[in-house]
Amino acid sequence: MSQQDCLFCKIVAGDIPSGRVFEDERCYAFNDISPQAPTHILIVPRQHIDSLDKADAAESGLLGHLLLISAEIAREKGFAEDGYRVVVNTNADGGQTVFHLHVHLLAGRPFVFPPG
Ligand code: AMP
Ligand code: ZN
Repeated sequence: MSQQDCLFCKIVAGDIPSGRVFEDERCYAFNDISPQAPTHILIVPRQHIDSLDKADAAESGLLGHLLLISAEIAREKGFAEDGYRVVVNTNADGGQTVFHLHVHLLAGRPFVFPPG
């Protein structure tokens, strides 16, 4: 069920344009509008979930799917071997700005740890 004022629900519905990378029945992947690396893709569930903090056991399969799709995109785009980073910013201190759960898939440069 989509939420009326949610940016990513609108992107999933096609009401706001996006650079589509991949989609299936459970998720939609598109290029981040403000890339923080040469490749910066967002993978979002079609189903609206506010954040990782709001996900529950009923969504465990969906959460696993988002990670496996991230890995599949990395292999298909050819950067899996070099490496990449997946990030799920959660709530204010986690740096979350859009409250529709999403996985950042970043690649194309080395990343430091811990992140800032
Ligand atoms: P977060 O800060 O983890 O909530 O990530 C939200 C991400 O959404 C940021 O990296 C933004 O650059 C990205 N973003 C915001 N609006 C759009 C948009 N219209 N299309 C694609 N990415 C977007
Ligand atoms: Zn949403």
